[in-house]
Amino acid sequence: MKQKAENPKKRFAMVVELKKCFNCKGCVVACRAENRVPLPISRNWIEESGVRGRYPFLGMTFEPAACNHCEDPPCQRVCPTGATYQSPEGIVLVDNRKCIGCKYCILACPYDARSVNHHDRVIEKCTFCKQRLPEGRIPACVETCMGNARHFGDILDPNSEVSRLLAEKDRFVKKKEAGTRPAFYYVY
Ligand code: SF4
Ligand code: SF4
Repeated sequence: MKQKAENPKKRFAMVVELKKCFNCKGCVVACRAENRVPLPISRNWIEESGVRGRYPFLGMTFEPAACNHCEDPPCQRVCPTGATYQSPEGIVLVDNRKCIGCKYCILACPYDARSVNHHDRVIEKCTFCKQRLPEGRIPACVETCMGNARHFGDILDPNSEVSRLLAEKDRFVKKKEAGTRPAFYYVY
């Protein structure tokens, strides 16, 4: 069941500066605490993507990852009850009251961004910390990031930090070929 804002005034997105992430995993811990996610589930994680720099100054590149809040999300397309929906700002969310636990969304997501929380009997995924946003607060992973690698904001606002980063730097999204149009960007 498709529910999408036709003319969104805001489009929230995450932008990660790859050279600043040093794999401290503070964001992973902060997310778990903020959203009370039980072990062993994690809404976000760090991927090791390769070596950077030149010999002898070599280091690993780390890619923090989570739900991409896709503009065209297959998880929403396959959801038989409309439990998965998009907020007017493009955040992909789950209405737990409508979820019947069929797991179609888990199979449909190309990013393995969803998992079953057997304890609370809900589907876990990043929500961009939606509970914080009405107060003008940023997601916990962004707030806690010691490397200042994570940035969050409105990409329809040309003056936002995320818009500036995307305009100034080379960027990519994961699995672009999947055609889901992620709102989770990586910049060099
Ligand atoms: Fe859905 Fe997966 Fe895209 Fe998140 S990353 S919106 S769970 S398809
Ligand atoms: Fe977790 Fe919030 Fe970061 Fe999403 S935005 S990964 S819910 S801390």
